[in-house]
Amino acid sequence: MTEPAPIPFIDVGAQRRRLGSKIDEAVGRVLAHTQFVSGPEVTAFEADLAAFTGARHVIGCASGTDALLMVLMARGVGPGDAVLCPTFTFCATGEVVALVGATPVFVDVDAATFNIDVASLKRGIATARKAGLKPVAVISVDLFGQSADHDAVRALAREEALFVLDDAAQGFGASYKGRRLGTLADATATSFFPAKPLGCFGDGGAILTDDDELAQILRSIRVHGQGSDKYDNVRIGLTGRLDTIQAAILIEKLKIFEDEIAARNQAAERYSQGLRDVVTVPVVAADCVSVWAQYTIRLPGGTNRDAFAASLKAQGVPSAVYYGKSLHQQTAYRHYPVAAGGLAVAESLSQDVISLPMHAYLDAGTQERIIVAVRAAL
Ligand SMILES: *Cc1c(COP(=O)(O)O)cnc(C)c1O
Repeated sequence: MTEPAPIPFIDVGAQRRRLGSKIDEAVGRVLAHTQFVSGPEVTAFEADLAAFTGARHVIGCASGTDALLMVLMARGVGPGDAVLCPTFTFCATGEVVALVGATPVFVDVDAATFNIDVASLKRGIATARKAGLKPVAVISVDLFGQSADHDAVRALAREEALFVLDDAAQGFGASYKGRRLGTLADATATSFFPAKPLGCFGDGGAILTDDDELAQILRSIRVHGQGSDKYDNVRIGLTGRLDTIQAAILIEKLKIFEDEIAARNQAAERYSQGLRDVVTVPVVAADCVSVWAQYTIRLPGGTNRDAFAASLKAQGVPSAVYYGKSLHQQTAYRHYPVAAGGLAVAESLSQDVISLPMHAYLDAGTQERIIVAVRAAL
């Protein structure tokens, strides 16, 4: 008997086969015109993303981390300022705040959606003020592909005069009350890292905003803070550009993205049907469509997660723990303030979450194997 083929966690190859020669041709066009930096594909892709999301301005950049960082730089966020962030997220969300010299203040998340808990956000703002900091912004995160509760975040942010930066690195393409992410916050940052729902073949990112002045500053920061005279830089910036080759690849991938979002939702539905009686399956809020960057389950109390993962692995099923430590529990972030009342939900999620293989090319047969393996491992 032959062993069943190992199941990939994310199948980049299946998408590459589907796209056939399209990617090779797109890259070939860039190799032919040789405008590797700021070539025509960058502007074309920015226009495609604007059409896809309804955002007025799209600024392609070098990574999702740069996208977040550039917005904080453009806003002049710095020492003495507090930026509120959920603690249950990828490190880049808090990292960019520290990079500009401001203080991340960590807040808890909602147990059902894993996204920012607005009651804890409110407490975090008070905590920041008590510590002598000036709360200036909140970074909402659309974790695992699901939109944060943007109406609730925006309402509190307006009351408290906070800028809202949405970290949509995992949620790009998702919608909230019928609107695609990209216009729901003052600025939205995303990543095209290969493992994200819309990924390129290297690093890339983008910022989306309806604010004309902010967009202009971001375009300047992207190229070392350049002004209208190219020999007179008017502010501190970075080398923050999106590569032309990556933009050319993304133009082709965006064409099938809508269809891939539908396939990811089908896969999520199959998992939930097969697993909801044995584990806590993810909850998508009403009026939201997730892009399922991860399909993350919670294990029943008393389950040994390491042993569970080892059992899956022995059955040919990879898994990953996003996130075994929340930011406030990690060495580099431990000394930053946390919202009054504590971060109990994030801490319990860190104990029992585990993510299963998820991509747009998961077929029902492979998923059945995974479901059987999960049930056997419990
Ligand atoms: C991936 C990710 C980022 C950073 O994106 P890069 O392109 O890898 O820099 C930021 N925030 C979240 C939530 C992410 O998942």
